[in-house]
Amino acid sequence: MQLSSRITDLLGGGSDGWGVFLKARQMIGDGVPVTELTIGEHDIRTAAPILQEMHRAAMAGHTGYAAVPGTDSLRDAVAARVQERTGVPTTRDNVLITPGGQAALFAAHAAVCDPGDTALYIDPYYATYPGTIRGVGAVPQPVQARAEDAFQPRSETIAAVASGAKSLLINSPNNPTGVVYSRATLDGIAQLCIDYDLWLISDEVYDTQVWTGEHLSPRALPDMAQRTLVVGSMSKSHAMTGSRCGWIVGPAEAIEHLTNLATHTTYGVPGYIQDAALFALSKGPAFETEIAAPFERRRGLARDILAGQNAVSLVPADGAMYLMLDIRSTGMTGEAFAHALLDQHHIAVMPGESFGAAAAGHIRVAMTIEDGEFAKALSTLCKYADGLTA
Ligand code: PMP
Repeated sequence: MQLSSRITDLLGGGSDGWGVFLKARQMIGDGVPVTELTIGEHDIRTAAPILQEMHRAAMAGHTGYAAVPGTDSLRDAVAARVQERTGVPTTRDNVLITPGGQAALFAAHAAVCDPGDTALYIDPYYATYPGTIRGVGAVPQPVQARAEDAFQPRSETIAAVASGAKSLLINSPNNPTGVVYSRATLDGIAQLCIDYDLWLISDEVYDTQVWTGEHLSPRALPDMAQRTLVVGSMSKSHAMTGSRCGWIVGPAEAIEHLTNLATHTTYGVPGYIQDAALFALSKGPAFETEIAAPFERRRGLARDILAGQNAVSLVPADGAMYLMLDIRSTGMTGEAFAHALLDQHHIAVMPGESFGAAAAGHIRVAMTIEDGEFAKALSTLCKYADGLTA
């Protein structure tokens, strides 16, 4: 039996970029100790009080179908959080609760793209972006941000392919680069969206992980609220990756249609998960800072280590739980470097090429292991790179 091309072509026929990751998994399975710096997941688990609230809510009976767009109380809490942080008037009518940011990315593209429409996204990109766009029947079109521009996308590069496109997907703080978009970058993007009549899908799942500067949501820029869908999530900000709870914030009319889509796809998010998310949000910014603190600390360790050598250079690590390292001085591709580092030193990092052509010659290091082990692995990595350049 034939499956739909929408499903069979989801990965676009190319490599899915997870070769090093899978090899590391295999080595670990075979009993080889591997230092794992590939995945974007905290090395802490969801905090016990959040789990206790989840348990309490489930035992209290919140186990039936929950309201499809989300519970009123969680939608209100997300709206209040967004309004407080951006100044944009936001109510529950602007909020759809989704099973994580990934489902929100899919739904947002389904909401603005018809089959065959072009959907733009910035390269380097989070690995699922092109497949998510193909999944709704749209055509993914990458736009390269350049290493020479510290991976801040240029609006004129986007403009060159924007004619006739429906949407632009951006992500700041950025996975994989760790870059936070400047106001100038976002102003340029906003103007471009207005000029080319594009929807802006703004993936802000790392909004609480900013080490320098501040997070700016482009929904707050002039005339942007009516054409922006913001993707948010509890995964990174509250170490709740497994709970699958995120949201879309956007114009009320779009949220109404997105609620219909949710009725026909997910039928909402479990009530006890939403209650736990509400409880987690009620803990406020201090808790979010606490969750982000290990990454900021390790970024400090990394900067010290990298300052003492010349083989590897660090892309400005302004946010998110990753470092993007330029290893072009070794003459190797990111892919070859990552494989060799794994084979010779049992350290697993992601090749830049896994995140698009723009990150060729780079590697992404997740700051997701204990400080001492992290520092040791990074020193080994630098020494290895230095040996290659000598
Ligand atoms: N966007 C980006 C940039 C991500 O890195 C991730 C997860 N790694 C997601 C969205 C999706 O996260 P979740 O579905 O857990 O909210």
